[in-house]
Amino acid sequence: MNIYKELKTYFGYDTFKEGQEKLVTGILAGKDVLGIMPTGGGKSLCYQLPAVMLEGVTIVISPLISLMKDQVDSLNEIGINATCINSTLDQEELMERIKEIKENQYKILFVAPERLNTNIFRNTIRHITVSFVAIDEAHCISQWGHDFRPSYIEIPKFIKGFANRPMVAAFTATATKEIIIEIKKLIELQKPIEITTGFDRPNLFYQVSKAGNKFTYLMSYLKENFQSETGIIYCSTRKTVESLVKKLKEKGFSVEGYHGGMNADIRMKNQEDFMYNRTRIIVATNAFGMGIDKPDVRFVIHYNMPKNMEAYYQEAGRGGRDGEKSQCILMYSPSDVVKQKLIMENEYSSPERQALQYKNLQYLIDFCHTNDCLRNKILTYFGEVIIEEDCGNCSNCLDRSEMIDITLEAQKVLSCIYRIDQRYGVNIVTQVLRGSKNKKILQLGLDKVSTYNIMKNYSEQGVREIIMTLVARGYIHVTTDKFPVLKLTAQCREILQGDVKIHHKKELVEAIGSKDEKERKSKKAVSDHFDEELLSQLKELR
Ligand code: ADP
Ligand code: MG
Ligand code: ZN
Repeated sequence: MNIYKELKTYFGYDTFKEGQEKLVTGILAGKDVLGIMPTGGGKSLCYQLPAVMLEGVTIVISPLISLMKDQVDSLNEIGINATCINSTLDQEELMERIKEIKENQYKILFVAPERLNTNIFRNTIRHITVSFVAIDEAHCISQWGHDFRPSYIEIPKFIKGFANRPMVAAFTATATKEIIIEIKKLIELQKPIEITTGFDRPNLFYQVSKAGNKFTYLMSYLKENFQSETGIIYCSTRKTVESLVKKLKEKGFSVEGYHGGMNADIRMKNQEDFMYNRTRIIVATNAFGMGIDKPDVRFVIHYNMPKNMEAYYQEAGRGGRDGEKSQCILMYSPSDVVKQKLIMENEYSSPERQALQYKNLQYLIDFCHTNDCLRNKILTYFGEVIIEEDCGNCSNCLDRSEMIDITLEAQKVLSCIYRIDQRYGVNIVTQVLRGSKNKKILQLGLDKVSTYNIMKNYSEQGVREIIMTLVARGYIHVTTDKFPVLKLTAQCREILQGDVKIHHKKELVEAIGSKDEKERKSKKAVSDHFDEELLSQLKELR
């Protein structure tokens, strides 16, 4: 049999996408395979084509009912008999399906992982020849991934239950090395043919935005760029989803929400309205995602920062599956980082795992601060070797916009925290720096400290922004007390000594609202040792 001929006959394609041919021939040769390809890379075809070419029935394990349904429908459309077994079937339907399966009416059988080891399913497949077992979204077996499904643990047990082990083909869009290693180990792949295709998505434009007011930015961004196209806006919490949907509706946008706390019917309706272009924008938590196969998503905006690069890459990757241009905007705000860190601190997890979480978050923070090519920064994370320094399709490459040195501002903030004995939180520190005449400040005698009123020309939001930036970058630690207190870390020294300069996009500094343009210009003279006493204290710490 000629694979090109079958490719054309069933799927109508003349050529394979990168990686597909090797995976297809691997399966046809009876080998285990592991296909690692980005979203939109064409993983489904890698098991669908061998399924029609091999004798017997292919079992496809898939984590989501909606995913199965879409695939079953499109396979049936092209004349390949497929069906699924999952919790949506009632007893009668299930019995009917099973009868049909035993009669060999189907070529491809999609199964939810929690069904695999049920007696009824096991008994059914004893009556048929299984050509191979395909595992879609194989990273769901890893606890380290962002989509862990406990039911995936059933898979190895299921495979061991065969008298003659069938070959196993696993597929994932995960590119993280640790997760790949775990997938291979847990699924017990046997000498798999492993194919990893490039993870670059050249049609995606990446941008990090540091807008002071996110909502205003979002609105003008949508109005300017996307009058009628569809897109996804990711938020970190259900609450933010709800409030953003409300605000956007008030502004006349065609928008609905999606998150795990919603009534299942409404959630499904919102998803379908989005899929069929009845709603233009969907605002969602990370519950919205895996298997969303809408080809024409023109923008993916992260209203809050995700917890690591893997999650970011996957979510942003839902844009532009049709290969057309799509924009991925990450709206960075230091306070989101602080939130993420607090979540991680409060989650129960082993110290190693927590350390890894921090490290992964830090990579994404660095991504937000880098002046280098954003695409390269993403690909480097996944271990790809970068050849070109300038991709020409990310915000850093397009606009190597002027950065402004805010080292002096940073020094003032650090000094202030020190001068008030590292005993107060963001509010007090901000008020002291801005010379607030607030009763509490006066009562505490904080108007007497030497750093009182040294940032009088900055807006409150601006000072907070600088503080949060310093927290995000590890110069300030926020305690987890009921009233969180700002503490200096030993790392501050590099800023106070002037070894490390803190830079920020001009756009941010303008949002900060400093009127100290003159001071900024003459800063070189003052900035090197802003607070000698603090500096020597930190030196002693070492
Ligand atoms: P993945 O599961 O890797 O995210 P899919 O299997 O959903 O990707 O495929 C993504 C898109 O690529 C689909 O629209 C599919 O029809 C298309 N596709 C798959 N293989 C080919 C091919 N050989 N030539 C052209 N298009 C393809
Ligand atoms: Mg897929
Ligand atoms: Zn670039």
